[in-house]
This record gives sequence, C-alpha cells and structure tokens, in this order.
Amino acid sequence: MDFEPSPRTRELHDRLVEFVDEHVVPAEPVYEEQIRASGDPHHYPPVLEELKAEARARGLWNLFLPDRRFGPGLSNLEYAPLCEVMGRHLLAAEATNCAAPDTGNMEILAEFGTAEQQEQWLQPLLDGEIRSAFAMTEPWVASSDARNIGSRIERDGDDYVINAHKWFTTGAMSSRCKVAIVMGVTDPDADPYHRQSMILVPFDTPGFRVVRNLDLFGYTEGPGHAETLLENVRVPARNLLGEEGSGFAIAQARLGPGRIHHCMRAIGMGERALELMCARSQQRVAFGKHLADQGVIRERIANARIQIEQARLLVMKAAWLMDTAGKKAARFEIGAIKVVAARMATDVIDAAIQVFGGASVTDDWPLARMYAVARTLHFVDGPDEVHLDQIARRELRKYEHFRV
Ligand SMILES: Cc1cc2nc3c(=O)[nH]c(=O)nc-3n(C[C@H](O)[C@H](O)[C@H](O)COP(=O)(O)OP(=O)(O)OC[C@H]3O[C@@H](n4cnc5c(N)ncnc54)[C@H](O)[C@@H]3O)c2cc1C
Repeated sequence: MDFEPSPRTRELHDRLVEFVDEHVVPAEPVYEEQIRASGDPHHYPPVLEELKAEARARGLWNLFLPDRRFGPGLSNLEYAPLCEVMGRHLLAAEATNCAAPDTGNMEILAEFGTAEQQEQWLQPLLDGEIRSAFAMTEPWVASSDARNIGSRIERDGDDYVINAHKWFTTGAMSSRCKVAIVMGVTDPDADPYHRQSMILVPFDTPGFRVVRNLDLFGYTEGPGHAETLLENVRVPARNLLGEEGSGFAIAQARLGPGRIHHCMRAIGMGERALELMCARSQQRVAFGKHLADQGVIRERIANARIQIEQARLLVMKAAWLMDTAGKKAARFEIGAIKVVAARMATDVIDAAIQVFGGASVTDDWPLARMYAVARTLHFVDGPDEVHLDQIARRELRKYEHFRV
C-alpha cells in the first residue's frame, strides 16, 4: 500500500484549501444570514450559487466521481484528502458539487442509468443545476434491513404505479430537488434480494408530496430531511433504474462510495474539533494554569490525535482496496471504517465540547452542530450494529472448523 498523495491530489488539495479559506469560510455567515432573512429555512441562498461558480472556474468540481467520462476521474484514494477538507467546512461539499445524496445518486445514474436517464437527470446534476433525493427508508419498518422495505412499484401497461411512504429523504425540502430515486417492491414473490427495484420519480409527478421536514437534534438543515408520500404515482416504465429486481444490488453499489465519503468528511470534522480544542486550551486559564497544562486535557488531546490518525489510515486502506480490488472486495473495510469514523468524530467532538466549556453548546461555535452531524453518522447508510454484525460473521466463519 502506498498512501503518498499523488501530485494531482497535492495540487488539488492546495487549491481546495485556498478556495475554502478565501471563499467558503467568509461565505458561512452570509449563507446563514441569507437563509434567515428569507424567512424560509430551506431557502437556496444566492451566495451558494456564487461559491459554485467560483469552484467550477477553479476546476474544483465533481471531484468525487472516479468515472473519467463525467469528471476529473480521481480514484477514491486521491479523493480522500480532498473530501476531508470538505468535512472541515461542510458548505464546501455543495459548493464543489460533491454533496450527498447527489454524489451517490450521480454514481448510480452513471453506472446503471440509460442514455436517456443520464441526459435527463445525470447531466443537470453534474452541472449543479438541480439536486436529487434517495428514498429508501420507511417509518413503519426497520429500514436498516433493506429486505423490509414495503413500498410498492407495480407495473401497469407502459407505466409503473408507486405507493410509498418514506422518511429521511435527504434534500427533499429544497425547491431545487427535482428527482427522487425511490426503492420499492416490484415482485413480492421473488427471493428477498430480488423483490425490489429502483425508479426515477420527478418531484412534480402528481401524487408525490413532501409531508414535513425532520429536524436533526433540533437543527433544520437547508435542503432538509423529509417525510415523503407517494400515492398512486404513475411514471413511464423507462424510468426504472437498471433491471426489475435489481434494487437491492444497486443499493449495495451506492453505499460503497457514499459510506466512505461520510468517513472522509468525519475525519475533517475531527481535525477541526481538535484544532479548536488545542487553540482554546492554550488560551483559557483555570486554577492558575492554562487548560493545556492540565494532564487530563493533554490526554484528551493526545487520544483525539491518535483516533484521527487511526481512522484516516483505515479510510485510506478502504479507499485503496476499492480502487485496486473493487467495492465488493472492500466491503468489510468500508463497514469497519463506517463504525470507526463515526466513533472517532463523536468522541473527538465530545472531548472538544468538554474542554471548550459552556460556549461549546451554543451556536457561537460550530461544535454543537458538528456533534449533531457526527452523531447521525452512527445511523446514516446503515447503523453501526449492522456493520459490526457483518464483520463478526466474517471473523467467525474463518474459525468455524478451528477447535481449541
Ligand atoms: C441524517 C440522516 C440522513 C438520512 N438520509 C437518508 C436518505 O437520504 N435516504 C434514505 O432512504 N434514508 C436516509 N436515512 C435513514 C437511515 O439510512 C436509516 O435511519 C438507517 O438505515 C436505519 O434505519 P432505521 O432508522 O429504520 O432504524 P431501524 O432499522 O429501526 O434500527 C434501529 C436500531 O436497531 C439496531 N439494529 C438494527 N439492526 C441491528 C442488528 N443487525 N443487530 C443489532 N442491532 C441492530 C440499531 O441500533 C439501530 O440503530 C438518513 C438518516 C439520517 C439520520
């Protein structure tokens, strides 16, 4: 394994850091203010459009996509340090057209979409003109087991008719969100891994509505996370993504890169929390000493650095395996890093919160919001327990016939 950044990664990394420092950081308060002034928490603030134009002009666009037909074609290993930078300042991900859930949706459209679907939906997504949603999770079933999904997608002549109740449809509150990839059952009699399909549903199709936004720990995020309802929604059969019955397989394909991107950003969040913890502890004096001179604080700082380094190395190993052996071969490393990165980010941010004192839980500092984002990583793209179970299963299999 060689984790030395390529010359291209180094060069893009320096340019991305410069863009974030010069444009994204100053735009953060403007972004908040423009949303507040509009009176709509899901308003699309003009400053974001300015950031996107600047990022594109600087060649910092669609960096996430390994497919050379549609972007610079960086490998996962090359993208990791760039995605980490976006984790420090989350606005940078959307500014560079590298934000979830569009990234995962663009990947599956690139891999499974027909030429017509790519022209209609992938191209405007690649151009940052629209946004998209991925609707799999349902309120009434344990959706960490995708086999439980109960929404129906039924063939009717040249159409499919969809009846689905979904929630956590990320991005669906945005007026720029124009299409959802909906997962549902096409053949209830098939085996559990071939019952489901995915279908493209434009947001303006009659019967498709957003019920409400779901706040996360009380925070309302711009594009939101919505409860959505599809009642007798009719779309042409050509909107099906891939083959009928391939929904489960496409979901698996989508989760590989999506999961690792969350982990890369988590490392960026960890770095930012550690930076804040170190700076604050060297400025604040309690009981006659800087906080940084207290043994207990130094231990927290050292542990944070160790956890970040461990997580980064595992992200790089998983990315390297995805690049060299494929997503399937890397699935255990991807599962492991998903657990490790979420734990690292919540632990490090939590330590920074404690060292920062009461200020940390106000919105004067980014730590409270970062904690909320990091905590949700323990569920997003599958809860920790599912990954742990799969890793344990593999380990146990290795020693099935081993007697002591
Ligand atoms: C911020 C955020 C954004 C999201 N965005 C999207 C999105 O865009 N599209 C979408 O479709 N979904 C999205 N989700 C949903 C997310 O993928 C689900 O919450 C997740 O898969 C878990 O499903 P569930 O909530 O139904 O939990 P359940 O399946 O009900 O699981 C509840 C708990 O049961 C335990 N558990 C589950 N399986 C096991 C096991 N094998 N062993 C032991 N314990 C277990 C875990 O502790 C788990 O947390 C998002 C969620 C969040 C929080």
